[in-house]
Amino acid sequence: MPEAALVLFSAGQDSTTCLAWALERFDHVETIGFDYGQRHRIELEMRPKVLAALRESFPAWSARLGGDHLVDLGILGRISETSLTRDVEIAMQDNGLPNSFVPGRNLLFLTFAAALAYRRGAKHLVTGVCETDYSGYPDCRDDTIKAMQVALNLGMETRFVVHTPLMWIDKAATWSLARELGGNALVELIREDTHSCYQGDRAHRHDWGFGCGACPACELRASGYQKFVAA
Ligand code: ZN
Repeated sequence: MPEAALVLFSAGQDSTTCLAWALERFDHVETIGFDYGQRHRIELEMRPKVLAALRESFPAWSARLGGDHLVDLGILGRISETSLTRDVEIAMQDNGLPNSFVPGRNLLFLTFAAALAYRRGAKHLVTGVCETDYSGYPDCRDDTIKAMQVALNLGMETRFVVHTPLMWIDKAATWSLARELGGNALVELIREDTHSCYQGDRAHRHDWGFGCGACPACELRASGYQKFVAA
């Protein structure tokens, strides 16, 4: 039986590395992304570019890479009051979570991914969530993902396996994983074409890629890259 996987893909560093990880392991890999009314549309614009660059640079992966699915979850942006979906400054909230946290986001993403995987006959779901150096988002935690796997399998009478290749590694190790999977060509592709910046900045180019250089996503990506090249 060929093993099929569906990767939650946002064209960022983490999900692009996860996509490469899946393409090394599974016979057929499809991608899913979400338009949830994020303020900065750049990640939606970068998706086809990253996928095209992967196909061009890695022919063996290209043969396994199937369709890309973009799901409209605009309702999430309409009911969320966060710095990713509204024009407000990124700030810490009273509950200790940054206001870039979109409540329910990963729970919904996994649920819709599972619904699509069910239809597509894919057993494996792959997501780039991580609780090593993250923004404290509770829906990135290992226990949250494991609970979701149980809930999805009970609720859909299936046997999905939710893979989180980055859960226990830091951003420097994520760069290293990319190099293990696809050599310097993949590291270059991630630097050049993936997007992590919360401000949607594609004007400023750094060693680690494009971004404002100051938002939490840029800071994580930059410090991880510096640790990676120093190692
Ligand atoms: Zn930034």
